[in-house]
Amino acid sequence: MLVSSAIGEAQRAGFVALTPVGSLRRFAPAVGGVSLLGIAPQVRHADLLTAFARLTEAAATDQSDSSVTVTTPRGAVTLHLTSPDQAGAALVWHTGSRAHVKQLQARAGRRGLRFAGAALSRAASEAVACASEHDFYALLDLPYIAPELRSGDGEIETASSGGLPTLISEADIRGDLHMHSSWSDGQNSIADLVSAARQLGYEYLAVTDHSQHAWSSRQLTTRDVPRQRTEIEEVRLGTQGIELLHGVEVDIMPDGSLDFDDDLLRGFDIVLASLHDAAGHGAARLTERYLRAIHHPLVNVITHPANRSPAHSDGYAVDFDRLFAAAASTGTAMEIDGAPGHLDMDGALARRAVAAGVTLVIDSDCHRVEALARQMQFGVGTARRGWIEPQHVLNTRGIDEVRAFVARKRAHA
Ligand SMILES: [Zn+2]
Ligand SMILES: [Zn+2]
Repeated sequence: MLVSSAIGEAQRAGFVALTPVGSLRRFAPAVGGVSLLGIAPQVRHADLLTAFARLTEAAATDQSDSSVTVTTPRGAVTLHLTSPDQAGAALVWHTGSRAHVKQLQARAGRRGLRFAGAALSRAASEAVACASEHDFYALLDLPYIAPELRSGDGEIETASSGGLPTLISEADIRGDLHMHSSWSDGQNSIADLVSAARQLGYEYLAVTDHSQHAWSSRQLTTRDVPRQRTEIEEVRLGTQGIELLHGVEVDIMPDGSLDFDDDLLRGFDIVLASLHDAAGHGAARLTERYLRAIHHPLVNVITHPANRSPAHSDGYAVDFDRLFAAAASTGTAMEIDGAPGHLDMDGALARRAVAAGVTLVIDSDCHRVEALARQMQFGVGTARRGWIEPQHVLNTRGIDEVRAFVARKRAHA
């Protein structure tokens, strides 16, 4: 809220542009403070900083010539300012990461340029104009590098050899295969989920409620399943232009079996399987539970595989190499879950999965319709940090290919 009201206020105050920077723009899984970069002519800077510092809700400011920090009950928000002719350098500088910027500084130095203080110059002081990030990278003989890739972890070398990926974007997503209705712990009806997914332009969605032993506030019992299916069929009759899949997020039990029996599972269009508890098991036992589920012919997707919680827990230390090998050979997808409490797999792990030949899905795992778009956006941002391209992701494909993906594994039952 503060950010959007700050943007509104700031635009009225005469910015050319205002962009989130820092870890927020890089889609880091946990963001300490929010940073914004305002682009405006130098003569406007003093007024803009004063206006920003006076924003409602804001308290305790810390101000310099080119930035001001306001402290809010939910964290600090810093506004940096730059002028239009240095916008590219300032965007790169404030977006980071620190390691990426440091490597660019060295690269600039080798070209007789100096990248310091959010500006690019030649020799001691002669400013080099770079109005956009494209201009900035071009001056360093590089193509544009997307913010999500700027980790300082090889992206500059890859960019200079022309090997950057064609990153997935939200526009590539054709459906959402993981969400909860009020049949389990979601807040909305199936009809509401369908209409929200339609508004996003999706071609399909899967409603995937929790099975009976899940540690959620409400679950789908075996007796609920046929009743839910009847409702799904009714909703389908009243719906055009989008395919509604009846799915389930079934719990993987302590022995690696599934919470629903095969006859019940076979009736679903798609089966997601997940661990929602560690049951006191160490990594080896958790790995075995996952492997048994991955080898089950009715399991199509493993959701939030690490069970991590950004900024709180790294999740399971399972043997991901074995899981990925099994997932690739059995035709089981692994998920990037966009719920803020998951963001799981994270980018680095998703990248390893793809390298092992695993198909990914990117899902919202939403429990209320308002979050459907946002959590997919988080999922895509997380995927972009993992260099993921559209062809790696099942739900960038049409519904027929999704159904064929399920059918191929079931054929080996
Ligand atoms: Zn789950
Ligand atoms: Zn879920």
